[in-house]
Amino acid sequence: MKNPWWNDFLSLFFPLLCLLCRYNQRTTNQPLCLACQAKLSPTNLHLHHENEFTDRFIGRVQLETATALYYFSKTSKVQTLLHLLKYGDRPMIGVQLGRWYGYLLKEQALFSTIDLIIPVPLHPKRERQRGYNQSTQFAMGLSEALNIPYKEGVLERRMYTTTQTGKNRFDRLENVLSAFQLKQKDIIAGKHVLLVDDVLTTGATLEACALQLLEAPDVKISMATIAIAMN
Ligand SMILES: [Zn+2]
Repeated sequence: MKNPWWNDFLSLFFPLLCLLCRYNQRTTNQPLCLACQAKLSPTNLHLHHENEFTDRFIGRVQLETATALYYFSKTSKVQTLLHLLKYGDRPMIGVQLGRWYGYLLKEQALFSTIDLIIPVPLHPKRERQRGYNQSTQFAMGLSEALNIPYKEGVLERRMYTTTQTGKNRFDRLENVLSAFQLKQKDIIAGKHVLLVDDVLTTGATLEACALQLLEAPDVKISMATIAIAMN
């Protein structure tokens, strides 16, 4: 399927449809049609090792670099895309966005030093309900495009927190910090790990995961998400 002529030939009979509008055609490498792409705001954060993503972790976690594909706002098309990925039984959205982003990240030298991609885990109960972990889908696409392995099971999510409303900020943070546990220390020792999630909001989840990964010796951490919420 790597042959572009073959893909062109196939597209005569099976046109690739945009993952968002599912109406317009897209090209093989692009997850979205041109019209939908125009409605999204790519961040280009990957062009700078230090950026507004890494800034949010200053004093919390030491990062090599971090990046997000799109800016997120409650009214944007990115929200539709993430909602379909999480609740619409559309795991391929994660894979396709991962492939596309991996293709862009490949151009940046720092990302070529990554040894292993680790998705933020869901609680097993929630993953069974959803049928997949959206962060793993994104990790799979990144892994394919970057030619870097991904691995599940390194971190485990322990608690099943259905709602966090009614708790104060400190309780919420405590709740999240104790939700993850490092299960496979040896696998990440001495490695540069790319921790992957769907969206960066407060950063509490990514922080909790990173702090666990740093329990292993000589670990370097970078992060990538599909979207970053604007403050
Ligand atoms: Zn579209």
